Amino acid sequence: MLLMKHFVHEALPGRVVFGWGTLKQLPAEVAALGCHRALIITTPRQNALAHDILHALDGNGAGVFDGAKMHTPVAVTERALGLLRERGADCLVALGGGSTIGLAKALALRTDLPQIVVPTTYAGSEATPILGETKDGKKTTQRSPKILPEVILYDVSLTMSLAPSQAATSGMNAIAHAVEALYAKDVSPLITMLAEQGIASFAQSLPRIAADPEDRKARSDALYGAWACGVCLGSVGMALHHKLCHTLGGSFDLPHAETHTVLLPHAAAYNAAAAPEAMARAARALGAENAPLGLYELAKTLGAPTALCQIGMPESGLDRAADIAAENPYWNPRPIEREAIRTLLDNAYHGRPPITP
Ligand code: NAD
Repeated sequence: MLLMKHFVHEALPGRVVFGWGTLKQLPAEVAALGCHRALIITTPRQNALAHDILHALDGNGAGVFDGAKMHTPVAVTERALGLLRERGADCLVALGGGSTIGLAKALALRTDLPQIVVPTTYAGSEATPILGETKDGKKTTQRSPKILPEVILYDVSLTMSLAPSQAATSGMNAIAHAVEALYAKDVSPLITMLAEQGIASFAQSLPRIAADPEDRKARSDALYGAWACGVCLGSVGMALHHKLCHTLGGSFDLPHAETHTVLLPHAAAYNAAAAPEAMARAARALGAENAPLGLYELAKTLGAPTALCQIGMPESGLDRAADIAAENPYWNPRPIEREAIRTLLDNAYHGRPPITP
């Protein structure tokens, strides 16, 4: 019997400007929002470029806050909020990856100021109404329309400085959003299409970036993939893979993109039998026979980490990680089974190829 399609799709509002050299358009984007005092948020590494932007805003800049940190600590947000109020900022410009965008989102949540985000990694936070914040060592995640940036300015030229190794792990982080979107219970035809495009863009571009970091077309394809995968993350619910990454990142302080890179093939394998259509689509986009193995091989080809033991996970923590990942029930194509997750983590710890039941 043919099953009829049934879906709900809720489009997120937002303006997207994509291209090479688009940073030049930032002053016009600030003006289009009716703003005159933009506070620029960044990390210390991108401080010089943030000051160039401040200069280019020519009187419409309120200053630079370069203290963004991983996992958006509330103490950092409060310091930035102090500067924002002192300078009378009327909009936020985030220049950087997920950490920087997280800080702009935390400020927007508290002030309702509009945000223009200029993503320089592939993490995808720019396209989501989701914010994860940490306080007293605990990370909590929330969704709100106030969190979603009003404008995303993708400038491919700003990603040329992303080292191929960082492009690889950041790209695998993005692919993870698309893989989990393909088997999300609230997926729609539009998101399925974007997920496949996102995975294919990275599968083709990341090896080219590794071979030639100056390949502008490959850098452009990768940043396009980041947008496609980011929209997937913002639009549908995530499952086991994101839960595991959240658990390992939060409880064991593992690096974000690397954790996604190592776990993704194993989480995909765990769900493969329960989500055959999603796996077929992911495999096709990867140009592989089998999606979990294709993801593992892609990470290996890129020289990215494939074992949790390579990225700081203590073997003694695997039991606790399995407990946390299994404790609060959440939707996943395959039921959450504590022992099977413990086995998954053991394989990921040792960097073995993913095992598809
Ligand atoms: P990041 O923002 O922490 O950046 C890592 C480092 O790379 C920083 O030092 C930064 O200065 C540097 N960097 C950034 N762009 C660069 C470039 N083009 N060239 C050279 N160096 C550059 O890393 P990330 O992986 O983008 O973000 C991770 C954080 O984002 C995590 O806290 C994660 O939870 C969060 N995140 C949130 C969402 C969401 O929807 N809320 C989505 C994805 C990630």
